[in-house]
Order: sequence, then C-alpha cells, then structure tokens
Amino acid sequence: MGTIITKTDVAIVGGGISGSALLYLLAKYTDVKDITLFEKCDEIAKLNSNGTHNSQTLHCGDIETNYSLEKAIEVQASANMVTRYIERFTSNKDILYKYPKMVIGVGEQECESLSSRFETFSPHFPTNKLFTEKDIARIEPQVMHKRKEAVIGMGVENEYTAVNFKNLANAFVQDAQNQKDKNISVQIATKILNISQQDQVYKIKTSKGIIEARFVVVSAGGHSLLFAQKMGYGLNFSCLPVAGSFYFAPMVLKGKVYTIQNDKLPFAAVHGDPDVLVPGKTRFGPTALILPMLERYNYSTIPEFFKVLRPDSSVLKVFWDLFKVSDTRNYILKNMLFEVPVLRRILFAKDVQKIVPSLRASDLRYAKNIGGIRPVMIDKDNRKLHLGEARINPGNGIIFNMTPSPGATSCLGNAKKDLESIVEFLGCGYEKQKLEQDLLKD
Ligand SMILES: Cc1cc2nc3c(=O)[nH]c(=O)nc-3n(C[C@H](O)[C@H](O)[C@H](O)COP(=O)(O)OP(=O)(O)OC[C@H]3O[C@@H](n4cnc5c(N)ncnc54)[C@H](O)[C@@H]3O)c2cc1C
Repeated sequence: MGTIITKTDVAIVGGGISGSALLYLLAKYTDVKDITLFEKCDEIAKLNSNGTHNSQTLHCGDIETNYSLEKAIEVQASANMVTRYIERFTSNKDILYKYPKMVIGVGEQECESLSSRFETFSPHFPTNKLFTEKDIARIEPQVMHKRKEAVIGMGVENEYTAVNFKNLANAFVQDAQNQKDKNISVQIATKILNISQQDQVYKIKTSKGIIEARFVVVSAGGHSLLFAQKMGYGLNFSCLPVAGSFYFAPMVLKGKVYTIQNDKLPFAAVHGDPDVLVPGKTRFGPTALILPMLERYNYSTIPEFFKVLRPDSSVLKVFWDLFKVSDTRNYILKNMLFEVPVLRRILFAKDVQKIVPSLRASDLRYAKNIGGIRPVMIDKDNRKLHLGEARINPGNGIIFNMTPSPGATSCLGNAKKDLESIVEFLGCGYEKQKLEQDLLKD
C-alpha cells in the first residue's frame, strides 16, 4: 500500500447523480467539515447519470404504471425535491425541461385499467388529467394518426418532466464547492481500489494513494455491491444488470408518451420522448437487455459481474421464475433480438407503433453507444427481484447504494437518508429545518 495522503470526515465513492447530491446536502446542511468525492472517470456523471445513458425522465409515479400508489407517492416526493432545488438554487440553464407527458392505454382492456388507475391516483396527483382521443390528437397528433384501436391517456400538459441529470450533478458539485468554511475535495480520475475498516476508520486505497475516512458512502452503481461483498456485506444480494438501448426517429412526439406495462414483466415498458441532448429527434426506448457486465460498453466489468452474481439455488430460482413465464421469456428473448442489426429495427418498430402507429422501421435508427445499465438487485433471501433502489447500511459508518431507475429522480431523497445516517453516526450538526424548508415545502 502507498503512503497515507490525507484524512477526510466523509468519503463518497462515485460521482454520479447520487454521490453528487449527497455531497451537496452534506456541504450545505451539516457541519461536516471535510468531504471528499471520488470519481474514476475524468468527469462527473459520465455513466448512468449521463443524459445519453438514461431516459431523462423526472419520474413522478403517475404515468409509470409499474408503480403502486405507495411507491408513486414516495417517488413524487423525491421528484419535487429535485424541482425545488433547481428552481430555487440554480439558474436552470439546461437542467429541467417542460414537456407534456402521458401514459396511453391502447385497446378496451388497457383503456379500462387506465381509467381505474386515474380514479385511484388523481386525488394524489391533482394536476393529472384523463385525456380523450380528441385531447390526445391535440397534444400528440402522431399518436392518433392512423390509429385503429381505442385509446385514452392520463398525464399533464405543462409541468417539468425531463431532466439533464449530468448538468444537475454538476450543479450539485458546484454548489457544494461554493459552501464557505468547508473543505470539499472532488477527485476525478481517481479510482477506488479497496476499502477496509481498521480501528473505527476506513482506509480507502485509491489509484492515487490512501485516504482515511470516518464515514464512507459508496454510490458506484453496480460496483457498490462489489465493494460491499468484498467487505462481507450484502451477501444476500446478487445483481442482474439490465441494459437499456434506444432508437432515434424524426420528431414525431412533442412530449413524453409512455405505454402501460405488462404486469407480468418486471421491466418498464417502452416510451418515446424528445431527447434534451439531440434537438429535433424523438428517442424511443429503453429496451431491457440482460448483459453480464456492471458497466455498459466496459468489457473489463464482465469478470466483476460474475463476482457479484455469486450463483446459487436462490439466484437460479429467480432466473427460472423469469424464464418459466412465457411473457417474460419472450420479452427477454425479444430484447436480445433488439440488438441484432437489421432485424432490430423491424422488431422494435412493432413495439413503437403502439405509440406512433404510422412509424416505419426505416424511420428508426439504433442509437449507438447510448443507454446505460440498471443494476437490478436479486434478493436471495426472498428469491425474487428487488425492483428499485437498494441500500446496504450495516450501521458501522459505511453505506452502499445500488440505484436502478428511478435512482436519478430519487437522488435528493436517497441523499437525505444517507445524510441522516451520517449525522446520527458521527453526531454532527444538521440544519434539518432549513433543509425541509428549502426542499420539502412549497
Ligand atoms: C436505460 C436507463 C434509463 C433510465 N432512465 C431513468 C429516468 O428516466 N429517470 C430516472 O430517474 N432514472 C433513470 N435511470 C436510472 C438512473 O440513470 C440511475 O438510477 C442513476 O443514474 C444512478 O446514479 P448513481 O450516481 O447512483 O450511479 P451512476 O450514475 O452509475 O454513477 C456511479 C459512479 O460511480 C463511479 N465509480 C464506479 N466505480 C468506481 C470506483 N471504483 N472508484 C471511483 N468511482 C467509481 C462511476 O464511474 C460512476 O460515475 C435509467 C437508467 C438506465 C440504465
């Protein structure tokens, strides 16, 4: 091991949206003096939190039919924290965008199920409206063009619905660095190689030396589980990396149009929306491709995937459960074919025609090198997929966060939980009321 280069109070591993949000909250609302953020890439939010890698949606839970009401209310609260932060504390230059958004039900059965969802959800989402075919034709003409089946929509017309999460992460880092009387160190291009605990402190071996920390939060995507397991934690989890690819089409949608999820599938349905990074195009996706790697397009993470997979009878049971249901099995196979040149455009066009019936395969272009990986956790104790974010907090000064969708939307909500654990463990000061006033209240 190299020489000890420095000490810090809190070390954050991973400079995606999760690590950056935590850096900001700690710097602004606690009296923790020294905070160090480590990011192995040469810039903040280059992987899943990059707009090229995710769907750029501020998930509020209303149009995501895979969310229960309880989950939707929780996600909405986190989404509102993001909106308040951007509106109150940034110039909102290229961060938050207003587009109409809706989920559509296609065919009698889906129309009925969406109407009944609207009844349940509308008291909690008062600005949401049920859109008739006439409304949809006005808001999204291409959704109705050449449409044969019955369709209804549910959504909003004039609210914030899209986020450039990379720009948001950079705003968090900038604001953290602007806090007076704090030592905020942001170490990019610095890879964490190992974390170990010795006598109440954590020794973090980095590519540039060793640092000691009183508290460590690892928000390193799928790598968080790898770090946890190396230290003997999270052995009851395995990881199923689900990549998402996208396709570009000419601009056929004005806003976000989601479809109803097949409730037998544990993955979100395809949607289409404007890409905040590529004006003039509509982007469709994401697909759901199971890939044996922790980071998309980084083949050196294949061996790391097998380390966290730790196959045993529980993991095999989860895979068997996925494959034995024909809907899921066909879906998984279809998503593999979505990667095969030529064939993929023809197959994907069929899915997309549910949203824009007149779109043809020749209108679609596979978006190369775009789309990240969702590290979906497998809960080995209960032998099932753990959908959504997972957090391992053994209570001894270290936390590991694994963040598939809607992890970017939930960045401040998750960071607040981490902050409260840190405050309790280190016994430091925390301006709770100020945080609540700033981010939780209208
Ligand atoms: C296809 C797709 C679509 C999605 N759409 C949405 C959406 O519309 N809305 C939404 O809210 N969420 C969405 N998500 C989820 C969202 O992108 C993630 O939840 C979020 O980006 C996770 O942020 P993070 O900071 O936790 O992880 P990441 O963004 O993955 O960041 C982890 C960071 O840790 C760094 N790191 C890893 N190992 C090390 C190491 N050893 N040393 C130092 N640094 C390290 C990595 O370089 C990386 O920068 C989507 C995800 C995918 C894949």
